[in-house]
Amino acid sequence: MQLVIISGKGGTGKTTVASSFAYLSENSIKCDCDVDASNLHIVLGGEDIYNKPYIGAKVAHVNQEKCTSCGACESMCRFDAIKNGIVDELKCEGCAACTVVCDYNAITMADEVTGNEIITKTSKGILSRAHMIAGAEGSGKLVTDVRKNAFKYGAKDDLYILDGTPGVGCAVMASVTGCDLALIIIEPSQSGLNDFKRVLSVIEYFEIKPLVCINKYDINEEITKEIQCYCKENNINVIGKIPFDSLVEQSINELKPIVLYKDSFAGKEIIKIWNSINELITV
Ligand code: SF4
Ligand code: SF4
Repeated sequence: MQLVIISGKGGTGKTTVASSFAYLSENSIKCDCDVDASNLHIVLGGEDIYNKPYIGAKVAHVNQEKCTSCGACESMCRFDAIKNGIVDELKCEGCAACTVVCDYNAITMADEVTGNEIITKTSKGILSRAHMIAGAEGSGKLVTDVRKNAFKYGAKDDLYILDGTPGVGCAVMASVTGCDLALIIIEPSQSGLNDFKRVLSVIEYFEIKPLVCINKYDINEEITKEIQCYCKENNINVIGKIPFDSLVEQSINELKPIVLYKDSFAGKEIIKIWNSINELITV
């Protein structure tokens, strides 16, 4: 069973919910698919037991001994990434067009490390995650690798909890493909509702059962009602509504899951949502 927690954009409380679920579930395997800003390991702690450089791109490399400075590569490169036989690695898109026009065989494509694949052994079980270098491309493939690495530590029938990538880009597709359940976190605003509809279309495309959780539902009860009506009309289960709770910000600052705060209304609701999901999973 693979449960992915996603949102239409960042900052909706997705990680607050995901880190709480990860904390509440000792027996699941956790995947942090938010490779651009992974943070489950910060909340869960633990020790890295695997760390492998991730080759996410290629970059042109010029052999200066062979280069005659003919300029053919410079004319060909539409990214303006090569000049006088010198490659600007930040601009090089790895398309390899320059290798085709170099009559002197001076250009080769070299692997570029764009991040790391990491397995962390936490007090709540295995966490598969990655660190991606800021601005690097190819996060979708890295997300796929994070998921493949997680499978090495569990069986097909185990519960996998995935903190998905926000938005609707290719990393999101990589986060949700093959999942059984998607918990979509929404905040009640007009843009939140639009983001939700976009991410829902992705979930439906992949034939994943959606569940909805409205975070900070009481900051705009009118839009909350609109979301609930939309879900009812479309036969989508709104599995929980989390109230605004200033303790959430405190929990983020203290790097602890909100469910550890006994007086937290948000934490109590997240525990209820977790129990409801467990009932659904075990039916
Ligand atoms: S095409 Fe080849 S030989 Fe010509 S400038 Fe580029 S690297 Fe040098
Ligand atoms: S690989 Fe493509 S982007 Fe990079 S220098 Fe060659 S032509 Fe330019």
